[in-house]
Amino acid sequence: MSNMRKPAARNTYRTGFLHSRAWFARRDRWFREEVERHGQLRCEACLQVATNRQLELHHLDYSGVASVDGRWQAREPHEDLVALHPFCHELLHRLLDRDIVLSRHRSRRNGSLFAINRLQHKLASRSEDHA
Ligand SMILES: [Zn+2]
Ligand SMILES: [Zn+2]
Repeated sequence: MSNMRKPAARNTYRTGFLHSRAWFARRDRWFREEVERHGQLRCEACLQVATNRQLELHHLDYSGVASVDGRWQAREPHEDLVALHPFCHELLHRLLDRDIVLSRHRSRRNGSLFAINRLQHKLASRSEDHA
């Protein structure tokens, strides 16, 4: 019996977990629940309304990701996931990767939320420029 958790599972996270049935089901449920809560879906970074097919989910916390006896489990609470366009998600990861303060001195959740907040300002001012 093993209950493997991050960071031990990190190596197989992209190749394994993100392609697992457990994750696909969790993702579908997250989008349904988000619509029930807010009536619509939107990208957390640019704040544009979007569909579930246009959005990816970013983990604020990996503690819900587990592998039990070789089977992936997706037990993330709703609050551990945020929806982002692939483009906005990429921007978030670039910020998280490059900013030492974000990557080292804060928890992933706080670092992500801080970076998302920064992106919201950046992307909002950008869309005003083009308006
Ligand atoms: Zn976006
Ligand atoms: Zn992410």
